[in-house]
Amino acid sequence: MKKQISIGIDGMHCASCSARVEKALAEMPGVSMAHVNLALEEASLELDDRKVKPEDLEKIVKSLGFSLRGEAILTEDEQILKMKQSRDRMILTWAVTIVIMELMLSHMIWGVHLLSMYSDLWIMFGLSVLLMLFPARNVYVSAFKSVRSGSANMDVLIALGTISSLMVLPLSLVVKGIDGHAFTGIAGMILAFHLTGRYLEYRARGKASEAIRKLLNLGAKTALILQDGQEIEIPIHKLKLGDIFIVKPGMKVATDGVIVMGESVLDESMATGESMPVFRKPGDHVLGSTIVQDGYLQVEAQKIGSDTFLAQVIKLVQEAQHSKVPIQVLADKITSVFVPVILVLAALTFLIWLVFPDLMTSISTTIGLIIRLNLPSTGLAAALMAAIAVLVIACPCALGLATPTALMVGSGMGAQHGILIRNGEALQRMKDIKVMAFDKTGTLTYGQPELLRHHTLVGEEAEAMKLAASLEALSEHPLAKAILRASKLPFSTLYKVDNFRNAPGKGVSGSINGKNYHVGKESYLTELGISITEPESNDLAHATRVYLADDDKLISVFRLADTLKEEASQTIGALHALGIKSIMISGDNETTARAIAAQCGIDDVVANVLPTEKAAAIRKLQESYGAVAMVGDGINDAPALKQADIGIAMGQGTDIAIEAADITIMRSDLAQLPKAVKLSNATFRKIRQNLFWAFFYNLIAIPLAILGLLHPVIAEIAMAGSSITVVTNANLLKRLNL
Ligand code: ADP
Ligand code: MG
Repeated sequence: MKKQISIGIDGMHCASCSARVEKALAEMPGVSMAHVNLALEEASLELDDRKVKPEDLEKIVKSLGFSLRGEAILTEDEQILKMKQSRDRMILTWAVTIVIMELMLSHMIWGVHLLSMYSDLWIMFGLSVLLMLFPARNVYVSAFKSVRSGSANMDVLIALGTISSLMVLPLSLVVKGIDGHAFTGIAGMILAFHLTGRYLEYRARGKASEAIRKLLNLGAKTALILQDGQEIEIPIHKLKLGDIFIVKPGMKVATDGVIVMGESVLDESMATGESMPVFRKPGDHVLGSTIVQDGYLQVEAQKIGSDTFLAQVIKLVQEAQHSKVPIQVLADKITSVFVPVILVLAALTFLIWLVFPDLMTSISTTIGLIIRLNLPSTGLAAALMAAIAVLVIACPCALGLATPTALMVGSGMGAQHGILIRNGEALQRMKDIKVMAFDKTGTLTYGQPELLRHHTLVGEEAEAMKLAASLEALSEHPLAKAILRASKLPFSTLYKVDNFRNAPGKGVSGSINGKNYHVGKESYLTELGISITEPESNDLAHATRVYLADDDKLISVFRLADTLKEEASQTIGALHALGIKSIMISGDNETTARAIAAQCGIDDVVANVLPTEKAAAIRKLQESYGAVAMVGDGINDAPALKQADIGIAMGQGTDIAIEAADITIMRSDLAQLPKAVKLSNATFRKIRQNLFWAFFYNLIAIPLAILGLLHPVIAEIAMAGSSITVVTNANLLKRLNL
């Protein structure tokens, strides 16, 4: 069976590592989709679980030099442990490096040799070897494994750079013309800065994935159940469907369910982003991990495990963090060939400096903006220095981290505000949106119309009401429910309806006591050949008219009005301020729709649209305006949500898994829309900024290194700096005021 799974992968350091794992996993027979997220250290896969066994996955991952982790997502403790280890390695490396630097600088600056000159150098050499064997061992192990598996990651660059600088000293014993002075200390410093960079980057990455880790920790770990009149605490995974569990003040609701006893005010902010607590009573649904504030509840478990609301939210957020943003494509292409290209460049640099020393020196001095730090002048030494600098300056990390870290911070922030951005493409498209189309009922309005007036033309008013209510009792439409409610007739007193037919977006028909009746909008009745003469003055323009007729004539007219959501006009205004026009799409007639649009400042109206025509209406808007977003509230809007460049679903708190939508707003609050636009745009801007800096850095730094204008240690500082900058910049997104 096709299955979606996530696995945790340890040991990936850079974008070329993750690209390698992704490629190998995707090529496995039975795997139809593989995506590796470096920032989360996780892979999400779509696979056929009959063809792919967990052992196979483990084997592939191992063969590439990485290891599988039990949990897909790093827990808080693992994260802290990893950070500590990384920090300890960094501190140890620095301690040794400072000694090395002291030895090197003391004679470079003061001309003093702490020991005899060559013992100085050999002590530095020995200390550097110790560094490579102990705190920095991972770099070399990972480089070795990656070369063995037939590709190269960025540890290969660092390993080659450090080893070649260290080898100069033993070489100088046999080769004339180079000496170890300028080279021997370099390896240690490169390693120290490299490990510092890695530690800082790791820390920033941890911050970026904080939001999702918080979501994961949100779930209740235990449930309190009644057994033989005793309260006992059980681990959450032992709770079964239909079990009754207890929640006391201050406790988390164990899982999604319905209250069977008790009432309380609940803090549902985790689910909806709404900070106002809500009151819930017997029969009401409650969500797992919401917090009971003052009451005692007994709740029947209705959803457990991966079916719960929280699990769905986590799944959606993860999906978003795994999705590709089109702008990243070029960076991905570059990272996949990055390391081999740099190896070739380093070799070429070495050769060119050897073959054309005068030419290179003259170019380098003309462009020499950056002061050379004790660059050796002899041909071989200069060639080596430049080649080592090329090896350590090149950094695919920044390119690989640019998009995922920004995406992670952006989608995490969204989740905290009840805005689920489900794919990266939507982020990129949001900035092109000129028009936002709204469904009317349930989206702009509360979706609970009230009957304002019932005008009967033929026969008794009560009889007309009973006929209409009997037909509408069989319909799910909000207008139908409103008429039934207004009739105040109990279900048992209604007429029996035969041959019931529902015409979506038009009305309903059926026969009562052998006679046909129809309830619906004007055009529905005219299509059936019943003529409608407007019996009344044209007040109540914003009210929707529903007509009741038999096969020959109109019987009565119902006027119903839905209330606009309180925040509607403010939202439309805020969208205007963001340069977005608003258009209402409605199945209602033109006059009613326009009257409602005028109430909240909507720019334009497309009326008389059948549910099946909504997608076509969006296509028309796209032809005239370009990119269009569509906001809808339900399943019936799915085709339109799909057709739109960005589909935004307004959830009711529980039914968030609306597949068609790119963005889901977890509560029916229109005020979230401008926030979603702002957040998407800000996240995409961050991605673009990050990619720019990553490209720019490599474009400038590599040529400088080739020209011998960057000392290898400076090059390593710049390299470490670039990935830290990218991740830190992504974290700055948190400052956005939503
Ligand atoms: P909306 O754009 O408000 O979501 P719909 O497409 O659901 O509208 O319905 C369009 C129109 O069709 C309604 O305004 C109403 O006049 C008519 N209609 C649809 N179903 C019914 C029904 N069951 N009873 C009465 N009128 C109906
Ligand atoms: Mg609707």
